Order: sequence, then structure tokens, then C-alpha cells
Amino acid sequence: MSDLPPLREVIRTYGLDARKGLGQHFLLDLNLTAKIVRAAGDLSGRDVLEVGPGPGGLTRPLLESDADRVVAVERDARCVAALQDVKAAFPGRLEIVEGDALEADETALVRPGAAVVANLPYNVGTPLLFKWLAQPEHVGSMTLMFQKEVADRIVAAPGSGQYGRLAVMSNWRWQSTKLFELPARAFTPPPKVASAVVHLVPRPEPLAPADGDALSRVVAQAFNQRRKMLRQSLKGLGADASALLDAAGIDPTRRAETLSIKEFCALARAFQALR
Ligand code: SAM
Repeated sequence: MSDLPPLREVIRTYGLDARKGLGQHFLLDLNLTAKIVRAAGDLSGRDVLEVGPGPGGLTRPLLESDADRVVAVERDARCVAALQDVKAAFPGRLEIVEGDALEADETALVRPGAAVVANLPYNVGTPLLFKWLAQPEHVGSMTLMFQKEVADRIVAAPGSGQYGRLAVMSNWRWQSTKLFELPARAFTPPPKVASAVVHLVPRPEPLAPADGDALSRVVAQAFNQRRKMLRQSLKGLGADASALLDAAGIDPTRRAETLSIKEFCALARAFQALR
């Protein structure tokens, strides 16, 4: 174990008062952050990509794991300064990249099979997830803290009120599991809502064949008017909705939330063939 100072002291020393615009809600209990690292599974010999290390509460147990190296992308220069002590305590294992994770090129930062582990800033959590979901060949797993409501939408099953584009895209080429929840009071400062950790691993094969872009468009359109029948809600696609549904073998009076991911893939293939 390193002899780094307590995280509260790091926050004081470097003046890391939380900035709302950067979604800064820090985890200061190292037992909790160690639990998140255990939830990431076997990290031996792998690269880890951490987004938003902040004062380093999750970075520390990541560096104590069997991972080869940790690449941490942080937007806040104050945190980058604070993390230099962590870097020094684990020579050659931590690379700190100052910048916006949305702009980062994962293929340049970490080797294939890398584990993405992060307590994500709420404001960019979903766009970051979509970015990584598109890279199942490069990203080996994701262990991510989201707002509980977002976590519930990621793992939602067809037929449930939370089932939507997030669930379809998170479970088509990936398998998602919600692991545990954390109350708002676990964070400093506490956010308004509870959080939850979701673990995602790429499937050996997608649930069904489809073009990612076509699937994303069909699903977005279908859920845009989720209470309407598909023959109505799919009209905005610019293709004949009834012909699409017919080609996919789907009853046009059904609603988006009743379709399985495989059925959405059939619709995406029909859309791709027609456009
Ligand atoms: N990992 C730390 C922890 O668990 O205590 C901090 C987590 S805090 C919820 C989110 C962190 O992401 C903050 O440190 C914030 O500065 C950083 N951040 C916000 N937006 C970012 C972005 N677009 N790219 C990289 N880091 C970002």
C-alpha cells in the first residue's frame, strides 16, 4: 500500500472545491473505490482507462491492482496537479492525460482489451458510454458508475418502462449487469440522486447481425414516440414504415418497448436493405 495522504487532505492542499459543471462528486472512502476495482474483475496484464480521476480515489486502488498501467484522462488542471503525487508513488504505472475524454482516441491511449473503469461525470456519462459501446474490439470491459436511473436504463429488459435506445445499444454487442448501488451520501459533495455501478463485457458475437448506424437510427426513431404503434412511430425514418415492418416480420401495431433486441436488428437489416 502506498503512503499517500488521505483524500480529504489532497482536496485541501490542492484547493479542489467541487465544480458542478465538471460533474465533480468525489469518492473519498478507499474501501468503496477498492470495491469498484474488484468489480472490474481480472485486470492482470491489462491497460486501464480511467476517465475523470479527480483527486485519485479510484486511481489509487487501480494502481494497487494487477493492471499493467493506468491511463487517466482528466479535464480539470487542478486535479492533474494533485495526481502528480499518485504518479510518483507508483513509478511508471500512471499516465495522466489532461483533456476532454469525449475527444480522446482510446486506440492511441490504451492497448486492445483495456478495462475502462470510471466514476463518470454525470453530464457526459451517456455520450462516453455510446462512444465505448462502438468499440467492442478494443475495449475489453467497462465498469462504470452512473446515476442509478441511467444504470437502470442500461440494463432494462424489453417490456419495462426503462427499456429504450440505451438498453438496446448496451446489450446488442455487449452484456450489461448492474452490480451495486451507492447512496448519494457516499459522494462529496452528495449529488441529488443515488448512483450504481454497471459492468459491461463484449459478447463473443452480437445478439443478431445489424449495421450499427442503421440499428441506432431505427431504435432512436421507434422510441422517439414510444407510446405510438410502430407503423406510426417509424414514419420519420424516410422509408415506408409498413414495408419495413413487413420485411422484418413485425406486427405494425406493436409498440417499441415490446420489441426484443433481435427484432430491432431485423428492422435495422430491413432498413439497410431499403435505403
Ligand atoms: N474519480 C473521482 C472519484 O471517484 O472521486 C472523480 C469522479 S467525478 C464524478 C468526475 C471527474 O471527471 C471529475 O474529476 C471531473 O473533473 C472529470 N471530468 C468531467 N468532465 C470530463 C471530461 N469531459 N473529460 C475528462 N474528465 C472529465
